[in-house]
Amino acid sequence: MKKCPYCAEEIQSNAIKCKHCGEWLQNPDVKSIIELPQKKEKDYLDTFADDQKQVTKYTKVALIFSLLWLAGIGSLIAIIYSNKAFKIIKHSQYPLSGKGVAIFSLILGILGVSFWGFAFIGAIISRI
Ligand SMILES: [Zn+2]
Repeated sequence: MKKCPYCAEEIQSNAIKCKHCGEWLQNPDVKSIIELPQKKEKDYLDTFADDQKQVTKYTKVALIFSLLWLAGIGSLIAIIYSNKAFKIIKHSQYPLSGKGVAIFSLILGILGVSFWGFAFIGAIISRI
């Protein structure tokens, strides 16, 4: 037993409508209407955070390796990881940040690969 918050009469503890004053104590339809969008919003924010975390991780790797482009192989890794970041940004329904870093890393990566490509071709040509 519990007390009705409207008329203070004793009612069943699982009552949804007071038998004394007729007030609705709990309307399950109203409750689900209020709770559903909140859950959706939470899911939205969780997935947003997950996507952003992944993009940040990839752009970090891409940036580090693009700056290490003189190490040769780093440029390839920079290209691969900036592409991974791009793919998530492109397919995600969220406004993710990190595009600028990904573009920067991609350009440096391409420059690095081109540099080593030309250096390789140059070395071959100079031997002929
Ligand atoms: Zn009542």
